[in-house]
Amino acid sequence: MRPASDLSPASLSYLQVPPPAPGEIARVSDGVHWVRFPLPMELDHINLWLLDHDDGFVLVDTGLASDVGRAAWEQLERQVLATRPLRLIVLTHLHPDHAGLAAWLQARHGVPVWTSQATERQMQRLLEPLTDEQIAERCAFFHSHGVTDLGSFGASLSGDRYRTVVSGLPQVAHHPRDAEETRWEGATWRWIETGGHAIGHLCLHERSRRVLITGDQILPAISPNVSANGWSVDVNPLDSYLRSLERLAELDPATLVLPSHGRPFIGLRERALELRNHHLGHLDRLLEACREPRTASETLRVLFRRTLTGFHLFLAIGEAIAHLEYLARSGRLVRLTDDRGTIRYARAA
Ligand SMILES: [Zn+2]
Repeated sequence: MRPASDLSPASLSYLQVPPPAPGEIARVSDGVHWVRFPLPMELDHINLWLLDHDDGFVLVDTGLASDVGRAAWEQLERQVLATRPLRLIVLTHLHPDHAGLAAWLQARHGVPVWTSQATERQMQRLLEPLTDEQIAERCAFFHSHGVTDLGSFGASLSGDRYRTVVSGLPQVAHHPRDAEETRWEGATWRWIETGGHAIGHLCLHERSRRVLITGDQILPAISPNVSANGWSVDVNPLDSYLRSLERLAELDPATLVLPSHGRPFIGLRERALELRNHHLGHLDRLLEACREPRTASETLRVLFRRTLTGFHLFLAIGEAIAHLEYLARSGRLVRLTDDRGTIRYARAA
């Protein structure tokens, strides 16, 4: 994800509840409590949610497997969970700040884990080290899109980054499916599978209480990363993402949105529309830039103002390819591959 410096803020109404201090929880709705954990990275926190269930809690997401994450859990265990235990862990998606401590917490609390089948499968894949051949394929993929300096991708390219910040694969007891409903303590939560940001991403919606846990699908202040690469399960993630925004925008506009980063807010439709327009703006700029054939790498300066390196460049090139592939798959751009294997995108005749 990246700061959305080019987004004009929608008129969101933020919940007037201060973020909970470390080791504390804050009630945000009937039976829903907010936990905020530090993250040792540029995106400096993640929100986790505790839902009342069976004199204890259902936990939504877990934090990154890092020393600060484990210390935050130990403090929460002492101050809150000593009297009200965890009953179940739910993962919105596979990214390490969400799923990182699932296996560690499962071992510690002896509770089941639920997540989508696609999330479990993809975690399993990412936790297996890549072969030299697979790493060579990934290098070739980025070279073909015009990235010359792969050195700065480091552990992102080899997959080692994921394995260092995820505590292992939890045992998953149940795979909630899209539109399935689950009752916890008088509340009926509907699972909504939303693609584009991560394969198998789940949101949780409580219609009568008008609460939507969005994971990373809709965030108030930054635009969730939507990336495509040569090993994506979803070959057109931007299309999946835009469809999910349409679907979520149909929910009651008075719904309280609980995002994984930033503050709870009301303004679901406005924010969904704003994120959609952000991507449509990217598509327009790319169509203009591709009057001359361009590699994905050459389009980065059209999409991003700052110079990107390392993990940010890795995400940005994936984001550029997701947009270019969306345009190619809808017939507005064509892919041109030269005899060295370099791929350029150009306006369709
Ligand atoms: Zn994510």
